[in-house]
Amino acid sequence: MSYDLIVIGSGPGGYVCAIKAAQLGLKVAVVEKRATYGGTCLNIGCIPSKALLHASEMFEEVGHLDALGIKVAKPKLDLPGMLAHKDATVKSNVDGVAYLFKKNKIDGHIGTGSIAAPGKVVVTKEDGSTATLETKAIVIATGSDSAPLPGVEIDEKRIVTSTGALTLDKVPSKLIVVGAGVIGLELGSVWRRLGAEVTVVEFLDRILPGMDGEVAKQFQRMLEKQGFAFKLGTKVTAVDTSGKTLKATIELAKGGAAETIEADVVLVAIGRRPFTEGLGLEAAGVELDERKRVKVDGHYQTNVPGIYAIGDVIAGPMLAHKAEDEGVAVAEILAGQAGHVNYDAIPGVVYTSPEVATVGKTEEELKAAGIAYKVGKFPFSANGRARAMLATDGFVKILSDANTDRLLGAHIVGKGAGEMIHEAVVLMEFAGSAEDLARSTHAHPTMSESIKEAALAAWFKPIHM
Ligand SMILES: Cc1cc2nc3c(=O)[nH]c(=O)nc-3n(C[C@H](O)[C@H](O)[C@H](O)COP(=O)(O)OP(=O)(O)OC[C@H]3O[C@@H](n4cnc5c(N)ncnc54)[C@H](O)[C@@H]3O)c2cc1C
Repeated sequence: MSYDLIVIGSGPGGYVCAIKAAQLGLKVAVVEKRATYGGTCLNIGCIPSKALLHASEMFEEVGHLDALGIKVAKPKLDLPGMLAHKDATVKSNVDGVAYLFKKNKIDGHIGTGSIAAPGKVVVTKEDGSTATLETKAIVIATGSDSAPLPGVEIDEKRIVTSTGALTLDKVPSKLIVVGAGVIGLELGSVWRRLGAEVTVVEFLDRILPGMDGEVAKQFQRMLEKQGFAFKLGTKVTAVDTSGKTLKATIELAKGGAAETIEADVVLVAIGRRPFTEGLGLEAAGVELDERKRVKVDGHYQTNVPGIYAIGDVIAGPMLAHKAEDEGVAVAEILAGQAGHVNYDAIPGVVYTSPEVATVGKTEEELKAAGIAYKVGKFPFSANGRARAMLATDGFVKILSDANTDRLLGAHIVGKGAGEMIHEAVVLMEFAGSAEDLARSTHAHPTMSESIKEAALAAWFKPIHM
């Protein structure tokens, strides 16, 4: 069988690329080694974690309805029921991708794909049988997997990655999360809400590395109020598994005396690394960069003509929507169009409670780049809707160019931040200004009015402060 395009990997990068290419008239196949389509995101990432985040948030909220004048009995946890909700959510999403492949006449091949040569992909099935497929172009979309912690062996039962943390059959009484990034804080939130005592150990002296420093600091205080304990500037050097409880050895990152903390479960969430194993990249002559990511040019093409790469396996933020947009861009390029991704306007969301959402530059980045900027801030405590919903924790921070007023960044901590951020994303896509945002009518009463007020604060003066 000969194709115009074979995509290896069916995560958000791969499946979206395949669908877009098929819509543009290309004959497309996808090779996926997992039994179901959808990649990390749909099977063991974004989707199951959000199912558990929503369910655990409801569980916690139901226990705190008194302030709204609602009396309910103390909620009881049905963990198998909650995990079944997560599994059903995953199933409906991965089935959805299979349906879309059929609808768009995309051939799905379940097996491990490797590149025999440009234009030739070998699919090895679980039973060892192989098939060789011919194609004009290949897109590598093989994603990433959890980065290991030296000296700590994962068993996915007591010492887990995010994958094991999505399937714990018992709420741990003590959970250590190694790494204060998005995945660690989200899954730490799930198990804390369900009853675990959570300690986060982070090598750096701050949480959420890469996000705006002020946002991270205030967010850390909110998490501490919820019961999170943080050990920053600290590293885990070993975990002793010999006893009934785990004993983690921690040390200050800059060196010092070792200390031991106990836990039932240790979640290793120190980041993810690109996944290229078994692809035959070396033999095909495809170059990797210094961090073992597939190197691509501005059109997502590797150094080997006809072989492209997108998503977590190349440079850039490891986010599903970044992978999706690259999938669309490369499909358009292959169909002779001018696909591209605006890396200045890719939002990032932490789906905790409250949520954190961010797009564009942080204050630290603007300072480092020597760009003169203005800051406008507005707290949800001054927003009527937030007061009505008892959701006054958090604030909006708008960063604009001091000379041109162009919006350079937006950072939100608050309920629903992950939905609200998109008005800033669209505005940045159109190179809009703080004044544009401040002059756009926002429905009253909404949490989003705080974005308008923060933009007003950056451009001239807020009304409600
Ligand atoms: C717990 C968790 C929560 C997350 N939450 C979010 C979130 O809320 N929002 C967000 O934007 N991002 C989130 N992410 C990150 C997101 O999952 C990734 O950025 C995204 O999945 C990357 O998409 P991708 O298509 O590049 O690769 P992947 O989704 O990793 O898919 C790659 C696919 O390729 C397959 N594959 C690999 N090698 C081969 C081969 N040789 N042959 C055939 N198939 C192969 C793999 O089996 C996999 O299915 C989360 C990640 C985790 C782990």
